[in-house]
This record gives sequence, structure tokens and C-alpha cells, in this order.
Amino acid sequence: MASVPSTLRECHRLRAHLRDLQAEIDRGPRVLKTWQDDLEAARVERQAHFDAITKLKLKQREDEGSLKQTDARLTKLEEQLAGISVPKEYAAKEVEIAHTKAKKGELEDAILATITELEERTAAIPAVEKKWADAQAEFAQFQVEAAERLERLHADTETSRADLARAEATLPPDVKPTYDTIVRAKGPEGFAAAKLRTCQGCRTSMTETQFSELKRGTFRTCTTCGRMQYPVE
Ligand SMILES: [Zn+2]
Repeated sequence: MASVPSTLRECHRLRAHLRDLQAEIDRGPRVLKTWQDDLEAARVERQAHFDAITKLKLKQREDEGSLKQTDARLTKLEEQLAGISVPKEYAAKEVEIAHTKAKKGELEDAILATITELEERTAAIPAVEKKWADAQAEFAQFQVEAAERLERLHADTETSRADLARAEATLPPDVKPTYDTIVRAKGPEGFAAAKLRTCQGCRTSMTETQFSELKRGTFRTCTTCGRMQYPVE
């Protein structure tokens, strides 16, 4: 049968391991949230690309409509100009025609710019779709791996709990109540290895006699930090 200190060593290892397993299990939802946020960002980015295309098409249509109206207005103004004989009215009409021509030019430039941007955005669609597909595939892969990892963590937890229960069951009745009180209060921090007579929990040294007793299997707690001690292997 294992000595009390070597049982404590095993209990320490198992309790620290169980704490780490639980921390990793607890981290799961936060990691999932990060992945979900990334996926949502990718979805929004793709949607923004298509929204921009829709908007550009609408703008092109509107500008083309305005251009048609401007063209018609220009034709009308030029017809009117031909019928004007009063110089002042003629000059005013000419100014109006110049303004309308300028507006026509602006509209034509705008339409060209819109068409160019539309072409670029349309050409980029395959890349945008690939990025979105990749993001979805990566998320799906993450979900599969996360489920497997969680299963492993739960299985390990179950095994470790059983191992811990088995180890704790071997503790003598005169030690068990103290052990229970300390682990209830401190968990895995209730244990410390002693290396070269020094407590690894608080760095306090013990006497050679105390260390010898510990190595022989005597149950002892650190006089300074109260941790249950065991000699390092
Ligand atoms: Zn100590």
C-alpha cells in the first residue's frame, strides 16, 4: 500500500489536473463565441459586398434616368435658343445651356465611375464567395474539433475523479478529516512538494528530522503555509 505522502502526491496531481480540465471546459463557450463573432463578421463582409453592388446598380439606373432628362432638356434649350432674337435673353439661354451641359458631363462621369466600380466588385465576387465558404468550413471544422475536445475533457475528468476517489480512500482515518478540511478550503493549493527540506508552496525549510519522517511516510502539514506535504520523487 502506498505511503500517505505518496498518496498525497497523487491526490495533488489529480486535483490540479481536474482543476485544469475544468478551466478548459469553462473556456469552451468563450472560444466558441470568438469563432461565432468571426463567422458573423465574414457574413457581414460578404453581405456588404452584395449590398454595395445593389446600391451601385440603383445609382447607375438613377444617373442614367437623369442623363436622359438632361439630354432632353438640352435639346429643348437649344431649340429655344434658335428662336430667341433678344440678345439679353439669348445670353441667358446660353448660360442655361452651359450649365445643363456641365451637368450632363458630371452625370456621364458618374455613370462611368459607377460602371467601373461595378465591374470591379462583380469580378471580386468569386473571391468574396470563397472567403465566405472558407469561413463557414473553418467554423464547421472548429465545431467538430470542439465537440471531440469536450468529449475528451469529460472522459478525462471522469477517469481522474475515479482515480482521485480511489487514492483518497486509502488515506488513514486519522488523516482523512484533516485532509478533507484542507482540500475543501484550498483545493489543489492544499498540497506542496518538499524539495531538499524546502516547502515548494511557501519556500519554508523544515528540519532534517522532519524531512526524514516525511520520507518515511508520516503525514505532516507545513508549519508556515499549512499545505499537506510530500517529498519530491
Ligand atoms: Zn509551506
